[in-house]
Amino acid sequence: MWQPPLKKPLRQRIRDAGGFYLWVNAALIRAAGPPQIGVGTQPRCRSCGALKYEHVLVDDGLGCPDSTPA
Ligand SMILES: [Zn+2]
Repeated sequence: MWQPPLKKPLRQRIRDAGGFYLWVNAALIRAAGPPQIGVGTQPRCRSCGALKYEHVLVDDGLGCPDSTPA
């Protein structure tokens, strides 16, 4: 008796994914992860120029990393 193949052929998987371009795109995203969003556009501190996420919150606002008391 006929049994369906356990693994779909590549051609079928490409068609399921909506075409070759979308399939390649999905494969690339799986391999490399989603595109990095916001790299290079992180907000920077006006006083020291360091990225804001490197700062610590202090009583009067953001504490710059190089001026934070140890
Ligand atoms: Zn700063």
